[in-house]
Amino acid sequence: LTRMYGPLTALSNVHVDVMTALVSFDRVFEVLDLKPLIRDREDARALEASRGPATTGKAAAPAAPAIEFDHVRFAYPSAEEVSLASLESIARTDTAPAREVLHDVHFTATPGQLVALVGPSGAGKSTITHLVSRLYDVSDGAVRIGGADVRDVTLDSLRAEIGVVSQDAHLFHDTIRENMRYARPEATDEEILAALGSAQIGGLVTAMPEGLDTVVGDRGYRLSGGEKQRLAIARLLLKAPSVVVLDEATAHLDSESEAAVQRALKTALAGRTSLVIAHRLSTIREADQILVIDDGRVAERGRHEELLLRGGLYAELYRTQFARQRDGEGLDAPSGDG
Ligand code: ATP
Repeated sequence: LTRMYGPLTALSNVHVDVMTALVSFDRVFEVLDLKPLIRDREDARALEASRGPATTGKAAAPAAPAIEFDHVRFAYPSAEEVSLASLESIARTDTAPAREVLHDVHFTATPGQLVALVGPSGAGKSTITHLVSRLYDVSDGAVRIGGADVRDVTLDSLRAEIGVVSQDAHLFHDTIRENMRYARPEATDEEILAALGSAQIGGLVTAMPEGLDTVVGDRGYRLSGGEKQRLAIARLLLKAPSVVVLDEATAHLDSESEAAVQRALKTALAGRTSLVIAHRLSTIREADQILVIDDGRVAERGRHEELLLRGGLYAELYRTQFARQRDGEGLDAPSGDG
């Protein structure tokens, strides 16, 4: 059994990657005939997507639900737990206590709000975003979307509502059309082109000799970092989820790409409830609420200006992480400001 822990733990990490790539992970378990730790309850119902009107954004955007973290505590499952959930016939033995990484995290993102997560490395920001898509279950407390506990709704209906964009936008070695269709298999070329246009990458694609048939990826047309990000945003727009979970890329982009990515993001987040691990100055300035995560807790919360005035951890993070972007960040850069 011990020899299986490694591969099974590795599989649980594959889950996160595959989810991010908008592909159903359940197939992996189905093929291997394993039971995932996270699965539908027998009486799970579909998440009702629309919970009142969004407070901001375009008319076409779906009505966005609130995201609520209700006194959430969380420890990653140990390798033993992953294994035992997968091999139900084996009797459960005592497992080592897991280290809690979120302690009493409590906040609400109201419909249509942009909530920025900032904080030191290892503080728990990604973990918070994983719990929204229910990649793991909380140890205590609850995560609710549109008032529904994520454990009470089907995973398919939950994940259909959530658009995830990770730092490294993963592209498959395939055409742009097929890369887009991972988000919505039945999308027409017209819809795909509209999404690419809104994500500020339509011009580039139509200018390619093979247009939507252009193969991208390592062995195909090489997209720049900014172009990849915009393609990922286009995919999100095509999926049109009511909730967005986004890990902003840290990669340095030239100011033209940066400005294009920012415009694309603005469209992508409008009217949706979004949780963004923020690396951009423009994002934290625009956030309706900034949560400063430190050692698994919400250490400070508020808007940019009020947190700066407080002179605490946020002010320190701003000085060390964000302030230097004032020179380089297209839309935000006050000219000549140093
Ligand atoms: P960063 O800014 O570096 O991405 P973060 O704030 O997103 O960091 P998390 O990735 O959420 O932090 O990590 C929070 C804690 O959980 C860390 O101590 C990390 O080592 C631990 N952790 C993260 N992923 C796992 C995992 N799959 N299994 C066990 N522990 C994990």
